[in-house]
Amino acid sequence: MNETWTWFGVPLSSVAILGTGFLVLFTAERLAPLRAPRSSLAGRLVVNACVSALALATAYFVVVPAAMVALREVSLRRIGLLQWITLPAAAEVAVGFVLMDLSFYYWHMANHKMPFLWRFHNVHHVDPDLDVSSAFRFHFGEVAFSAIYRVVQIILLGVTPFTFALYEIVFGLHTLFHHSNLRLPLAFERWVNKVLVTPRMHGIHHSDVRRENNSNYSVVFSWWDRLHRTLRLNIAQARIVIGVPGYLDTANNAVRSVLVLPFRPQRDYWRTLDGTVVERNAAEVGLPRSVMQA
Ligand SMILES: [Zn+2]
Repeated sequence: MNETWTWFGVPLSSVAILGTGFLVLFTAERLAPLRAPRSSLAGRLVVNACVSALALATAYFVVVPAAMVALREVSLRRIGLLQWITLPAAAEVAVGFVLMDLSFYYWHMANHKMPFLWRFHNVHHVDPDLDVSSAFRFHFGEVAFSAIYRVVQIILLGVTPFTFALYEIVFGLHTLFHHSNLRLPLAFERWVNKVLVTPRMHGIHHSDVRRENNSNYSVVFSWWDRLHRTLRLNIAQARIVIGVPGYLDTANNAVRSVLVLPFRPQRDYWRTLDGTVVERNAAEVGLPRSVMQA
């Protein structure tokens, strides 16, 4: 693979990997869907393509240059945890990768717990269905704020450009996978989920029930939710309504509406427009939280 071939400065190999991942998952989730969609795919594709294009442009023009500066500082000044401790090269990459993923768990949780950040992250969650087209549908403001977080991550952890690039490509591919509406055999997904975030696990994170939305923050490894007791797997996918109750009316999911959403007075997120708080009937949830339902 020739890394000198670039597309607007981005190595063509990473564009090809993510593009192929998208097309494979987009096809697979049509053949074996996990949840029945509630809205028109064509309409959502337009919104998600526009919002994702702005997010990716912000990543390219803001996040990548900020990360480059931080990576250069780490190697010039030898700052950060992994620069202070001496590890064999492979162990340094592995530890850096795992710590990058742990710190993204905290960033994702902060996006839910801090009202200012949630205004922006809510744009990702008001998508009325969840599939691979939702994977990069983030408000450009959220992506720009994540540049600051990435600089802090790189400087504190002291990761090398190789570890950072490896994590970013896996992060991108895995984000496509866990947002996909792909039905995997339950026994297989339960097994994979011992290590990785899977579509059923992340589907519960996009539920319109507040307690479920505040679960399953992990990005690549599912361990972080187990470790922090935020794991919730015992919700059947057929029972999940994707979205945020205060923003479930279809007029909300238009390009302009979602882009201005963070700057408008916020609704009561967890009440439907008729004032009902969405709750889960306890009888629907029989199994322990750590047991994945169909
Ligand atoms: Zn979230």
